[in-house]
Amino acid sequence: MLIGLKEALEFGEKNNCGIASINTPTLEMLVATIKVAERHNIPLIIQHAEVHESVNTIENIGPAMVELAKRSSAPLVVHVDHGETFDYVKRGFDVGFNSAMYDGSRLPYEENLATTKRVVALANEYGYGIEAELGVMPGREDGADSTTGIGDESLYTDPDLAAEFVAQTGVTALACSFGTVHGLYKADPKINYELISTLRQRTGVPIVMHGGSGLSPAEYRECISRGVKKINYYTYADKAALEAVKQLLVDKPDTYVFVAAAVAAGLAIEKNIDTLVQCLYEGHVN
Ligand SMILES: [Zn+2]
Repeated sequence: MLIGLKEALEFGEKNNCGIASINTPTLEMLVATIKVAERHNIPLIIQHAEVHESVNTIENIGPAMVELAKRSSAPLVVHVDHGETFDYVKRGFDVGFNSAMYDGSRLPYEENLATTKRVVALANEYGYGIEAELGVMPGREDGADSTTGIGDESLYTDPDLAAEFVAQTGVTALACSFGTVHGLYKADPKINYELISTLRQRTGVPIVMHGGSGLSPAEYRECISRGVKKINYYTYADKAALEAVKQLLVDKPDTYVFVAAAVAAGLAIEKNIDTLVQCLYEGHVN
């Protein structure tokens, strides 16, 4: 069934969980992710990032995401991830997405503020929640270079500005920069936990972690208890799928490869995400 962003985050706040927010640019990823949500009956966010338009357009994969979410026994949010323009968020709503992130974090502050307000006004017409971003996070969703900017605290989100931004825009949740990076970690992340607590307190809304792949269970739990309630995750599920396909080619070189590879990838993603939710929803899944 479909639920709103706000409702999913409220579950997270009430139960001290991080709501898993998984990018599902292919059908294998989508089906595997929903299976995990159903197995544990947990609220989960399936999302499509603008940077994945080259894998599948939102008009192609989006209707499948919306339909499978509606049909599912698990409570699911269908969310636009990193919409870089007002128009991209609108495209998501047009195919039935009920939540979105508008990302103007690389724009000058005033421009980010102005467009976020317009996006929130649009979402209010439907009663949908909006996530926005303040502060710059290194790397991108497609796994492109994430070596620059690690540990550069000048890129981290400023709590005064964050408080003002949330008050002026009325966003449901705020993605902040506090030490995680998109893509594969080439060095250990340096998470500023104090900053998470301050941001949660000053903004009054749940904090979103991007670059949620590759942290230890203890790091996830600490971030969650400090105020992170939405955790974006993609890279390591994608990596697990690729490893499974590589192994398949070693084990069964004569396989009718493509379909078998898709099946192997789906199973690996399911296993990877199941392990993730054991940690994020600790005490609420078996
Ligand atoms: Zn992100």
